[in-house]
Amino acid sequence: MRGCQNARDVSLFAPFPFMSHPVENVVIVGTGCAGLTAAIYTGRANLNPLVIEGSLPGGQLTTTSEVENFPGYPHGIDGFQLMQNLREQATRFGARFEQAQVQSVDFNSHPRKLVCGDRVILAKSVIIATGASPRMTGVPGEKELYGGKGVTTCATCDGAFYRKMDVAVIGGGDSAAEEALFLTRFASKVYLVHRRDTLRASKIMADRATSHPKIECVWNAVPVAVEGVEQGAVSGLRIRDVNTGAERTLPLKGVFVAIGHVPNTGPFAAALDVDEGGYFKPAAGSQVKTKVPGVYVAGDCADHVYRQAITAAGMGCQAAIEAERWLAEHGG
Ligand code: NAP
Repeated sequence: MRGCQNARDVSLFAPFPFMSHPVENVVIVGTGCAGLTAAIYTGRANLNPLVIEGSLPGGQLTTTSEVENFPGYPHGIDGFQLMQNLREQATRFGARFEQAQVQSVDFNSHPRKLVCGDRVILAKSVIIATGASPRMTGVPGEKELYGGKGVTTCATCDGAFYRKMDVAVIGGGDSAAEEALFLTRFASKVYLVHRRDTLRASKIMADRATSHPKIECVWNAVPVAVEGVEQGAVSGLRIRDVNTGAERTLPLKGVFVAIGHVPNTGPFAAALDVDEGGYFKPAAGSQVKTKVPGVYVAGDCADHVYRQAITAAGMGCQAAIEAERWLAEHGG
């Protein structure tokens, strides 16, 4: 098994049928802010963590241009660079990285098993930090102009780039209402484009959004295309009225897609508790413990409320400390 040659032996877990395979102290799944922070802490605790990176190394922040709200960077930092820094810091403390996709897990076994294609990784403790992917509309232009070109999924991250500009938020839930309200601090006008004639958002958020003088609700409208692909920057949002079929273009510079997130919990969902949205449900009294001893969750895969780089990093830190304590108690 590649990448497992430095793993320690585990007296507590012997005898078990995989004794010929090395057993990792801690396997961290995911390389966003949560996963890399967990790697820094477990690495620094001499646990020699193995970090599994999937299809988007560095996570969601690598698709953002500038990050201005991560503490410690008074002038902001490029999202990709921030993740490179975290990775370098984790590597410095002995974290090892492997590219793999976890397809399924067996958390009833000791050690825990993670199945990645034809390989099985054995681990005494596991930190799952697989993040969440923003749900996208899939209309033409959205993908081409995503990340620094005018289409984004995070007003908190990118709103300040749209000072005195017109923007649109797509969606009708709490996220859309919150994003639209946040954007009123910067934008001249915020179109809130929703496919129905009432918001799904909580009443207080809906009332605030619909009564804000800078927000214009565009009801019964679905996006058809994001315009500006030729120029490499958003110039408008083409929308269609779902009742009449009539189309028109809203001239604007920014499109904020806020139609929900899809947590990346699929391969683990059968082994752990998840809520109706698919997010991990931590054990009572903890943000990061699960019902399986030695298995922890961190970051956006377990948090649909805050979803910030710094909160994910905080959860990664908590998970690492819990794993370290658990290993100390159980013979790691
Ligand atoms: P959500 O509640 O699932 O709302 C998603 C919205 O996007 C819905 O209005 C939906 O329309 C619309 N939508 C979905 N797919 C679409 C598509 N393909 N094209 C156009 N519109 C589409 O998601 P959320 O707003 O991210 O909230 C997720 C959870 O987090 C909720 O429980 C929410 O209360 C919570 N949250 C809370 C806060 C807060 O308390 N401050 C802030 C953010 C989120 P329909 O209405 O027609 O289904």
